[in-house]
Amino acid sequence: MTLGSGCHLKSAFSMKLDLCKVVNGCRLGKLTNLGRNGDKSIVFPGCMLYTRTGSAPHLTYDTMQTIEGLPLMTQITLSTLAECQEVLEDYKQGIGKFIGMPDSLFYCSLQDPVTTCPTGFNTNKTVSMWGGGGRLEMTPLKFMAIQNALQADWFQCLSYGVVPGGNSRKRAQKSVDRSLAFLDECLRLQEASLVPQKSVMIGAIEGGEVLEERLRSARETATRPVGGFLLDGFQGDVMDKDSRLKLIAAVTGELPEDKPRLIHGLGKPDEVLECVERGVDLFESCFPYQVTERGCALSFSYNYQLDPETAVLDPSEIQEPNRNGENTDDNEEPDKDMEQITAFEISLSKKRYQDDFRPLVQGCRCYCCCNHTCAYLHHLLTSNELLARILLMIHNFQHYFGFFHAIRQALKDGQLPQLKSLISKQSL
Ligand SMILES: [Zn+2]
Repeated sequence: MTLGSGCHLKSAFSMKLDLCKVVNGCRLGKLTNLGRNGDKSIVFPGCMLYTRTGSAPHLTYDTMQTIEGLPLMTQITLSTLAECQEVLEDYKQGIGKFIGMPDSLFYCSLQDPVTTCPTGFNTNKTVSMWGGGGRLEMTPLKFMAIQNALQADWFQCLSYGVVPGGNSRKRAQKSVDRSLAFLDECLRLQEASLVPQKSVMIGAIEGGEVLEERLRSARETATRPVGGFLLDGFQGDVMDKDSRLKLIAAVTGELPEDKPRLIHGLGKPDEVLECVERGVDLFESCFPYQVTERGCALSFSYNYQLDPETAVLDPSEIQEPNRNGENTDDNEEPDKDMEQITAFEISLSKKRYQDDFRPLVQGCRCYCCCNHTCAYLHHLLTSNELLARILLMIHNFQHYFGFFHAIRQALKDGQLPQLKSLISKQSL
C-alpha cells in the first residue's frame, strides 16, 4: 500500500506501509521509504525516542548509542523548539543536524508530553503553547514557517483538544471544527509553498469524550491528504479507562489501514498493549523518562516465553514487580512523585536497596545493569549525584525499548495473549 497515491502530497511520495500481520486488531508491520533519501524504515508496534528540547534526557549522543533497540524515530516538541525558529532558519540544515542526530528520523509534536500546560487560551485563529519564554500564539502561517525551519520528517498538524468543563459536547464539536480548519489551512500553505516540502503532516483526531465528534474528526481527517493520524487528547486522567478504550477502537475503525496511527500520553505497559489491540501503531517513550525522574527503575518482566507463573514469581529470575511493597521499613514521607510510582518499577532510593548487590534487573544487558548494583544506585540517589539519573535513563530506555521488541515478537509468534497476561499480572 503506497501512501499518498492519488493525492497531491508533495512530500510522502514513497512512504509505504506494509502490514505483515493483523491479529485481533493488533497491527504488525513496517513503514519503509522514510527519510530524506527514502532509505530508512521503522517497524511497529513501536515507540519513538523521547527528547526534551531536542536532546535525550541525561544522555550524550555516544551514551545513547550504547542503548539496545534505540528507535530510529525521535520525537521533538514544537513548544520547546519554536523559539529557535530564527536560528534554525539561518542554519538551514534542519533539526536533525542541528542537534547532532543527522541519521535519525523526526516526528514533531505540538506539546511536550511530560509538561502540563494551561488550557483555555486557544482561539479560532491561534493555538497557544508555552515555551521557555512564556506563551506563544501559533497561527497556521507561523506554524508552517517553523515546520519549514525544523524540517522534521513528520509533524503533528496544528490542532487542539477539548478543554475540560462546561458543555463538553459543544466544546468537543468546536475542537473538531477548529482542528479541521487548521488542517486545511496548513495543507493549503504546504501546497502553495515554493519550497519543496520534505515533511509529512500527521492529522490530529480530536473530539474529547464525545463519540460522534471523535468519529466525525476521524472520517473528515481521513479524507485529507495526511501521512498518518494522531489520536490526541487521551492523555491524563480525564477519561475513565473503558470510555477511553471504546473511543480509541471506534476511531481506529474509521481510519484507512495504510497509514500509521500514533498516540500521545499513554505509555504504561498495560496501556500500550490495550492500545495495540485497538490498532495503534506508534507511541511516545516519555514513560521511562518519568520513571527515571522519580528515581525509579523499570523492573517488569516481558519475557512471555517463560512460564508466566515463574516469570513473575521467581525472584532469582525476575525481581518481584512490587519490590516497593508496603514500605514500613523506610519511614519515608510519601511525596507526589512516590504516589505516581507504578507497579512496573522499583524505587531505588528506598532503604531496602542499600545493600542489594544485584543488578537493577537480572539478565538485563544494559550498561547500568552490567556494571552496577541496586546498592550503588541507591547511594547515588541518596547523595543526589547526577550520575544516578544518567544510569537510570540508560536502563529505563533499554528496558522499555525491549518491551516493544517483545510485543512485535509476541505478535509474530502468535503469543500476544501470553505477553498480555504476564503484563496484567504485574500491573496489580
Ligand atoms: Zn538494565
